Amino acid sequence: MSESTTERLRVLTGDTPTGSLHLGHYVGSIENRLQMQEEYDCFFFVANWHALTTRADQTDDIRADTISIVKDWLACGIDPNKATLFVHSEVPAIAELTWYFSMLVGYGRLMKNPTVKDEIRVKGLGDEYSFGFLLYPIGQIADILAFRPAFVPVGEDQVPHIEMTREIARRFNQYYCKIDGSVPDEEHAQRGGVFPIPEARIGRVARLTGIDGKNKMSKSLGNAIHLSDTPKQVQKKCNKIFTGRGSMDDPPVLENNTILEYLDIFMPDKARAAELNEAYAASKIGDGDLKKEVGAAMNALLEPIREKRATISDDDVIDVLKDGCRKANAVAEQTLWKAKQAVRYDFFKREIVLG
Ligand code: ATP
Ligand code: MG
Repeated sequence: MSESTTERLRVLTGDTPTGSLHLGHYVGSIENRLQMQEEYDCFFFVANWHALTTRADQTDDIRADTISIVKDWLACGIDPNKATLFVHSEVPAIAELTWYFSMLVGYGRLMKNPTVKDEIRVKGLGDEYSFGFLLYPIGQIADILAFRPAFVPVGEDQVPHIEMTREIARRFNQYYCKIDGSVPDEEHAQRGGVFPIPEARIGRVARLTGIDGKNKMSKSLGNAIHLSDTPKQVQKKCNKIFTGRGSMDDPPVLENNTILEYLDIFMPDKARAAELNEAYAASKIGDGDLKKEVGAAMNALLEPIREKRATISDDDVIDVLKDGCRKANAVAEQTLWKAKQAVRYDFFKREIVLG
C-alpha cells in the first residue's frame, strides 16, 4: 500500500452526524474547506463513531445524518475530485491509534478540557455520560493525527481539542521517536517525529450564535438553521430570534443581539447592512423588518445549495464515501504502520480491502 505521492500539505476536519449541517458550519468551517480544497490535500470525514457517544440507541438516525451531511458537503461545493470524503467507521487505523494515544492522556487532563466540560453541561449529560463519551476527545486526536495534517479547519469550540492533539503529538514523538522536549513544534516531523504538530485554522466566524440568542448554533441543541431548511423554515426560525428586548416599547438592544450578528455575517451588501443597522438603532425599523431582511439574505445564500442538494442521491453518497474510504485507508494505514514501528509493535504489515 503506498502513500499518496502528492506534495501538497494535508488538511483534516470532520462533522459529527448528530443532525444535518447548519449555518454555523457554513461560516465556521465549510467556507474555509472550499478554499482549502483548491490548495491542500484535504480529508473531510463524518465522525459516526463520535455520534454514538450521545446516541447509541439511535443508529438509524446516525446513518441518515451521515448521508445527509455528505449531501450538504457536496451541495456546498466540496468536490470529491479535489478532496477525500470518508466515514470514520471504515477506517480502522483511527480506532487503533486511539488505543495508543489513550495511554498518553491523563484522566485529570481530559476532564479539564473546557469543550468536554461544556458539552456535558450544555447537552445535560450530568454524570450519566458513557465511558465512550470520555474516549471521544482521544478519538478525535486519532482522527486528526492519522492523517498527519498541517492544518485543521474548525470553529472556536474545537480549539481545546486541537490543543490536546498538539500535546499528544509532541508526547508521542518524545516517547517513541527520540524528539527532545526542546525541539520547536515546526521541526518535529523533519527531525523524525511520526506526527507533525497540527495547527487549528478558525473560519470567518469563530462561533455563530444559535437562534436561542445564547448558545453556539449547534445540531444537538435545536437552535440551528440547517442548510437543508426550506425558505419558509428559515424565515420562521429568523422570526423566533430573541433580540433582547422585553417588549416592543423598549429601545432596541444593540449589544449581543443575535439578529445584528446575523445581519453582519449574512448580508453580502455591506452598505445595505450598515444602513439597516443605523435605522434599527434609531428605531426607524423594528425587529420584524430586520428579521425579514436577514431571512431573505440567508435564503439567497441557501438557494443554490438547496437546488444542488436535491440532485444528489443516497447512492451517489455511498459511491463517494467508498472511494474516499479507500484513499483515507491508504494514508491512515501508512500512519499506523509508522506509529507501530515507533512503539515497536511492528510485527508484520497488513492491508485493508473494502468489499
Ligand atoms: P453537536 O451539537 O452535535 O456537537 P455541532 O453543531 O457542534 O454538533 P460538530 O459536528 O460538532 O457540529 O462541528 C463540526 C465543525 O463545525 C467543527 O469544526 C465546529 O467547530 C464547527 N462549528 C459547529 N458549530 C459552529 C458554530 N455555531 N459556529 C462556528 N463553527 C461551528
Ligand atoms: Mg459540536
